[in-house]
Amino acid sequence: MQLLDGRKLAEEIKKEIADEVSAFKATGGKTPHLAAILVGHDAASESYVAGKVKACAEVGIRSTLIRFEENIEENILIEKITEINENNDIDGLIVQLPLPGHISENRIIETIAVNKDVDGFHPVNIGRMVIGMPCYISATPAGILEILRRYNIRTEGKLCVVVGRSNIVGKPVSILLSQKGYPGNATVTLCHSKTINLKEIASKADILIAAMGQPGFIKADMVKEGAVVIDVGITRIKSDKTKSGWKLTGDVQFDEVAPKCSYITPVPGGVGLLTVVSLLKNTLLAAKKSIYN
Ligand code: NDP
Repeated sequence: MQLLDGRKLAEEIKKEIADEVSAFKATGGKTPHLAAILVGHDAASESYVAGKVKACAEVGIRSTLIRFEENIEENILIEKITEINENNDIDGLIVQLPLPGHISENRIIETIAVNKDVDGFHPVNIGRMVIGMPCYISATPAGILEILRRYNIRTEGKLCVVVGRSNIVGKPVSILLSQKGYPGNATVTLCHSKTINLKEIASKADILIAAMGQPGFIKADMVKEGAVVIDVGITRIKSDKTKSGWKLTGDVQFDEVAPKCSYITPVPGGVGLLTVVSLLKNTLLAAKKSIYN
């Protein structure tokens, strides 16, 4: 079994991005600038946004964090997004999800300018991804592809099972892995909570991607000998073994599944770190106007 080491990979790629940012600036380019909107004080969202801000600083990308209280009205948020859309100094904009229940996430996502949508959640970017046009690919699916690519994992002709059909992870990664090219050309089955015989389907997978948010759901008897297992799940659970009183847990029972795998991502230290790196890459693409003018 080989560990797909997200930490090592993320450090490597961050160095490459930092070099690219320096080279861009040396040839007269601007400092890439990411704006992040955070609504409320959800602990997980706070820590994800803090991680993104820190990663920006590490590679020479400027970031601006804009905070709103939980009870912010939707129209105020929309006004702020519109203002950022029109601000030429800001290249990329993300709104940390989830948003409070009184705000429509779809309306907020659709308000973000397509050319600044570095999270790749806007329907235009998703549509372009589906038909293989240049676009911002959402950060977690892009991070998964990056892991496969950097570890030279073959995908062509492989049976890939994705468990979870969210718009930000499961659906896009299942589409990307079935596209022509590498990493792609896989035969993909997309599973969800209404799937019958999930265990039987999962245990046939050459590549199994778990993106459910159900800690430890994937057990050894659901995994084929020699499979590649990508654990996207991140759930904070209480722990008396950590200083913070919390620990992050994946969807895969790592200890019992790892010995059966050819490759596996750990949690933490796996996909999450590549997600942040992909966001940095998209922000640099936005500053360079590589996808949209
Ligand atoms: P969602 O909650 O939006 O979707 C979860 C999906 O899992 C749904 O499609 C749901 O099915 C399916 N599911 C839930 N329970 C079961 C079950 N028992 N059997 C089969 N399918 C099931 O999740 P997200 O995609 O937003 O996130 C998934 C996980 O990934 C979370 O832990 C999240 O924290 C993590 N995450 C990690 C990221 C990273 O960077 N590593 C980034 C984004 C998310 P149905 O549609 O039928 O309800």
